[in-house]
Amino acid sequence: MRAAIIAVGSELLSTTKLDTNSLRLARSLERFGVEVVRKSVVPDRVDDLIEELKYMLDRCELVITTGGLGPTEDDVTKEAISSALSLPLWLDPQILSLIEQRFTERGLTMPEVNRKQAMVFAGHRTLYNKRGTAPGFHLDLSHLGEPKHLFVLPGVPFELEGMLEHDLERWLRSTQDQSRFRRIVKVTGMTESQVEELLQPFYENHRGEPVTVLAGHGEVQIHLQADGRADDAFPRLMQYEQELHDLFGDRIFGLDDEQLESVVGRLLGSRGETVSTAESCTGGLIASRITDVSGSSAYFVGGVTAYTRDVKQFMLGVDPEVIDRDGEVSEEVARQLARGARRRFGTTYGIGVTGIAGPSGGSADKPVGTVHVSIASPTTTEHRKYLLAGSRELIKRYATQLALNMLRLFIVRGGTLDRRETPRR
Ligand code: ATP
Ligand code: MG
Repeated sequence: MRAAIIAVGSELLSTTKLDTNSLRLARSLERFGVEVVRKSVVPDRVDDLIEELKYMLDRCELVITTGGLGPTEDDVTKEAISSALSLPLWLDPQILSLIEQRFTERGLTMPEVNRKQAMVFAGHRTLYNKRGTAPGFHLDLSHLGEPKHLFVLPGVPFELEGMLEHDLERWLRSTQDQSRFRRIVKVTGMTESQVEELLQPFYENHRGEPVTVLAGHGEVQIHLQADGRADDAFPRLMQYEQELHDLFGDRIFGLDDEQLESVVGRLLGSRGETVSTAESCTGGLIASRITDVSGSSAYFVGGVTAYTRDVKQFMLGVDPEVIDRDGEVSEEVARQLARGARRRFGTTYGIGVTGIAGPSGGSADKPVGTVHVSIASPTTTEHRKYLLAGSRELIKRYATQLALNMLRLFIVRGGTLDRRETPRR
C-alpha cells in the first residue's frame, strides 16, 4: 500500500510553524510496512486542497489529511473533500450532542460555530475524538476491487495522537499482515566511508536487504530493517544486528535512541566509578552532555572550564614551563589537564581537552581543528590527537563526542585504548 500525507494549515507554510504531524503519521505507517510516497503542506484554502486531494488520491491507496477540522471560517478540509469527491455532508445529531456534552461538562454552552463540527459524510465512518471536539473520518472509497482510503484527522498534535492509536493503527493492523521491524546501530570514532567499507561483507551477504547509513553529529547510524510477519522478520533483524556486532565490535556504542553520554553514564554507574572534566576548547560542553542524563550526579563530580592559561596553571596544576615549551594546545597540556581534574575532584577518571575550535587562531603546525584529548585513570594517562574539520560549533561537538568515546573505550577495553584481539561487546 502506498500512502500520502497532506498537512493542512496556512500557518504551516509560514516562517514559524513546522509540520510535525506528518512525522508522527509516518512513524505509524512505517510500523505497518506502509510506504509513504508523497507528503505535502497546503494552506487553509478550498481550491488548493481540492486540487491536492485529487492529485494524491489518484496516486495512492491511502491518503491521510491532518488539520482544518476546527469550527472557524478557515477550517475547510471537510468542505474541500465534499467538493472533490462529490460527497454530501449532513448534520449528525448524535455527534452534535457529543460535542454539546463536552462543553456542558466544563460548564460552558456550545458556541454556534461548533455546529459545523457535527457535519459528517453520509455513509462513511466518523471517528470520535476523545481529546477534542472535531471528529475525524475514515472514507472507504474503494470500488471495483481497488482499495482507496482517505483518513481525515485533526491538526492538534495531542488529538491526532489519540486517533492514531485508536483508529488508524487499529485499521492498519486489520488490513496489513506485514510489519516492519527496525533497529538503529550506532557507531562513533569512524567516518561514514570507513563504515561503508567495513559494511561490504554485510552488503554482499544481504543483497537487496534494506540498510541505510546516516552520518551526523559525530556518529554514524546504520539503520537496519526487516519486513514481514513478526515470527520471521524479527529474528532476521536480530541476525543482522549480530552480524554488525561481529564486524564492528566495540566501535558500536549503542542502539536505537541511545546516546553516548547515557552509555558512558551507565558504564560508570555500574562500576561505581566517577569522572571529572577539565575543558578548554569545548568550554564545558562535555560536562553539559554528561549532566544531560538524569541521575548523573552518581558518577559526575564536577568540571573546570580551563579557558585561560592561568586557570590551567593555578586551578589544575598545569606546569607553566610545559605551556611555554609546547603551547596551551598540546599533548602534554591535555594530559596534565586530565590528571589535574582527577586529582582536584578526587575521581576515578579525569578528562582533559585542549584545541583550536577556530575559525581564527590556527597556525601552520597547529591548524584550526587540532584537538588533544586525554583520559587519566588511577594507573595511566592516555592521549589522542585529532584533526577535525567544520565550523566552530561542529568542532566543539565532535571533540565532546571523541572525548566521551575515548572514556567509553578506555573502560570497555580494560584500562587501555588499544584494541584487543577479538572485539566483542
Ligand atoms: P483541528 O483539525 O484539530 O481542528 P485545526 O487545523 O482546525 O485542527 P488549528 O487551530 O489550525 O486547528 O491548529 C491547532 C494547533 O495544531 C495549532 O497549534 C497548529 O499549529 C497545530 N497543528 C496543526 N497542524 C499541524 C501539523 N501538521 N503539525 C504540527 N502542528 C500542527
Ligand atoms: Mg489549521
